[in-house]
Amino acid sequence: MKRKLRMGMVGGGPGAFIGEVHRKAARMDGLIDIVAGAFDIDPAKSLQMGQALCIDPDRTYSTYKEMIKKESNRDDKIDFVAITTPNNWHFPIAKDFLEAGFHVMCEKPMTMTVAEAKALEKIVAKTKRVFGLMHNYTGYPMVKLARDMVKKGDLGKILKVVVQYPQGWLIKPIEREGQQQAAWRTDPKQSGAAGCIGDIGTHAENLAEYITGLRIKEICADLSTFVKGRLLDDDGNCLLRFDNGAKGLLHASQISIGEENGLAIWVYGEKSSLEWHQEHPNYLYVKVIDGPVQVWRRGNDYIGKKSPAAKKNTRIPFGHPEAFLEAFANNYTNFAETLIACIEGKKPSPLSLDFPTVHDGVRGMQFIETVVKSSKSSQKWTKFPK
Ligand code: NAD
Repeated sequence: MKRKLRMGMVGGGPGAFIGEVHRKAARMDGLIDIVAGAFDIDPAKSLQMGQALCIDPDRTYSTYKEMIKKESNRDDKIDFVAITTPNNWHFPIAKDFLEAGFHVMCEKPMTMTVAEAKALEKIVAKTKRVFGLMHNYTGYPMVKLARDMVKKGDLGKILKVVVQYPQGWLIKPIEREGQQQAAWRTDPKQSGAAGCIGDIGTHAENLAEYITGLRIKEICADLSTFVKGRLLDDDGNCLLRFDNGAKGLLHASQISIGEENGLAIWVYGEKSSLEWHQEHPNYLYVKVIDGPVQVWRRGNDYIGKKSPAAKKNTRIPFGHPEAFLEAFANNYTNFAETLIACIEGKKPSPLSLDFPTVHDGVRGMQFIETVVKSSKSSQKWTKFPK
């Protein structure tokens, strides 16, 4: 294609968190320009953001509906929209853009309910648009290496998976002190049926299924709300049963003092096991039965020989750390390559197709609903739909 892809954004106004991460990541590899946006629920702040980003004032919109209407009439209309609003807006915005013919990159959790997620899956199939979901942790090269090691059978049969995502930033009721990100995350009307387990538990669930290729089939969950007066869970502990008979543990927390973004996973197989930590993402630990622990380090030639996906999703040489922004950018670039192939009527390469989609979004919503159901039930073990 002889031009960059044109991206519009909904959300990501002044003071927002993830919108700016998307903007940096989308532009990292030079395939995408940001040309339009309805950046904030407050039209004045949307305009302010558009000015700060040097976006054409004619393309800085008061509402996403205005953006759809006016962009649809342009010759140089956006190719896709990135949705970076709180959760309650994801479904209506994604639906309207897809039905107007635009491709979509959406934040997680994808919707508010499983019913909405399944409806969106149908709309994506019907409109034949490209839909990316920002489960950014699958974008790390060492996560792709881990996935490929499991796929090649290096671990043998998977017996056990331990995955955790502890944070400590919600130990105090900062949602009542005006903290923007805490306010909507603890409000069921904007966050959905779960708090912590929806916000970060879904990342843990997605990571476990991505690396192992297994599917969770039953969950026994115990959600807690430790901060008095809070309406949603701020801590969750789950036992997992996988479809191959493997067992697992998943915990997510936002009241664990001292923890920052401690996403980590341990995968135990019959032949060897793996360990990866998001806060030290350039290293993958491989443990064997009768030898020392191996440290596989990003950017080395031996990584690419084992995993072409890890190599493709690496930019700079070993020893210069790559992390959060690059992982986001990997999802964007794979999404963009797929989109370019789609626009040119070509078949995207399997390596380009390696980004989370609407199907991951359905799994995420099923996970949330199953955990909430299990936590409320006295029988505990609850089936996770296939
Ligand atoms: P935030 O509160 O910092 O920002 C939300 C922004 O959306 C604000 O600017 C707000 O004005 C705007 N907004 C709300 N409704 C809107 C509407 N109808 N039209 C236009 N703009 C609107 O929230 P955040 O922390 O950036 O989270 C946003 C989303 O990103 C959530 O779904 C969250 O789960 C997700 N998120 C994902 C990750 C990740 O690692 N993938 C990390 C953080 C947040």
